[in-house]
Amino acid sequence: MAVTDPSPVPVPAPCDGEARGTAAHDSAVHEGILRRQSARESAARTYARALPIVPVRARGLTIEGADGRRYLDCLSGAGTLALGHNHPVVLEAIRKVLDSGAPLHVLDLATPVKDAFTTELFRTLPRALADRARIQFCGPAGTDAVEAALKLVRTATGRAGLLTFTGAYHGMTAGALEASGGAQDVRVARLPYPQDYRCPFGIGGPRGAELAARWTESLLDDTKSGVPHPAGMIVEPVQGEGGVIPAPDPWLRRMRAITEDRSIPLIADEVQTGVGRTGAFWAVDHSGVVPDVMVLSKAIGGSLPLAVIVYRDDLDIWGPGAHAGTFRGNQLAMAAGAATLAYVRENRLAERAADLGARMIGQLQSLAKEFPCIGDVRGRGLMIGVELVDPEGAPPAATGGPDSPDLSTDPLLGWPTAAPLPAAPDLAAAVRDACLDRGLIVELGGRHSSVVRLLPPLTITDEQAAAVVDRLADALAAVARTSHS
Ligand code: PMP
Repeated sequence: MAVTDPSPVPVPAPCDGEARGTAAHDSAVHEGILRRQSARESAARTYARALPIVPVRARGLTIEGADGRRYLDCLSGAGTLALGHNHPVVLEAIRKVLDSGAPLHVLDLATPVKDAFTTELFRTLPRALADRARIQFCGPAGTDAVEAALKLVRTATGRAGLLTFTGAYHGMTAGALEASGGAQDVRVARLPYPQDYRCPFGIGGPRGAELAARWTESLLDDTKSGVPHPAGMIVEPVQGEGGVIPAPDPWLRRMRAITEDRSIPLIADEVQTGVGRTGAFWAVDHSGVVPDVMVLSKAIGGSLPLAVIVYRDDLDIWGPGAHAGTFRGNQLAMAAGAATLAYVRENRLAERAADLGARMIGQLQSLAKEFPCIGDVRGRGLMIGVELVDPEGAPPAATGGPDSPDLSTDPLLGWPTAAPLPAAPDLAAAVRDACLDRGLIVELGGRHSSVVRLLPPLTITDEQAAAVVDRLADALAAVARTSHS
């Protein structure tokens, strides 16, 4: 289905910032703001370091900076903007609330706006969950909703331990960090997340996923594994920050079966994958898995802060105030979110994301044949990753050899193992910078920050998608040239 961007902004020509009449003045304003930012803001700031942009206007896929330069935004507020910037239906929903005189701050009181949001959200959920769902409105960040989910299952089961996965990202507050890949905590047992390119077992594919599942089963069933019966398992159906790694559907179904058989609540963290992003309304829909708890944020607020958990009613045994917070009633976010959910559903944007994402992934895979520094292209829907590697680096000695970088028979195991080239974070950073020079905003992710990530809005047009791929190709060519010279 061809969906056209309802807010067509002409696709800007690369590097068109110089053309404006007041270029010198605009550039001085832009530089001044950036200078004051670096003097006054925290050393912990993130995106601002790699993207020296001062956004002043935005519409759809396009952002305009204070210096007049225009960019195609494939970061989309870290995957938040399902409909792009300032979509008309989102603006209209926000204006309607403002014009109605409704209170903007209501703690967790009932309002017509919240009622409408909940109705629209429940309409989209997997049916078996929607029929018995409860919703908890959380503090407005994804990480707070993760905290709520962990608290919920710990209260419901009376157990403390948690099963999480290598490479996971669930947020920055204590419990969410504990569940993320970098943490070390005895309450958390870390399980292998299946991945083809850097499979921990060296084989990838269904066999790699099968080994990952068996390891999970054995940890749970071995009375001496050191892993106590856990309160829950938390999983991203596609790892985002971990490097755009989609979980195979059969593996996710195995995780569902393993947890169900052992009365372990399954928590799907759909903070990044939700609202059509992966080509289904929720990423769990691909596999038909019905989780016990879903953690939702980012796109559900239609670009404003909102985070909730939805879960099966029998888990709802925590007491009043178990997960309180002042900012759980953002009316503008609920209105913007309800409008976004309805727009994605009515315009079948999940299907559009599936089709266009498959096409873009195919085009990027063709590029990989041209550029040896592309190790892998992967993704699901409009959640796309391009992993950069060092084409001259030697793959790990135990798995294959320099003569056969892709697949060779392991001398010890006796079966073919994949031997990916070393990750190339410097090349990835150079590609990100070269993209920015060409008016394209991309993010880096992955274990080694070597994966260029594309998260365009679901409203991106065919022409805009082609421009994104072209600019990325051009940036890759420029970086490949300089890295060889
Ligand atoms: N879970 C996932 C899967 C995420 O991708 C993120 C953010 N990137 C979070 C949780 C945390 O959300 P927030 O940054 O809003 O706290």
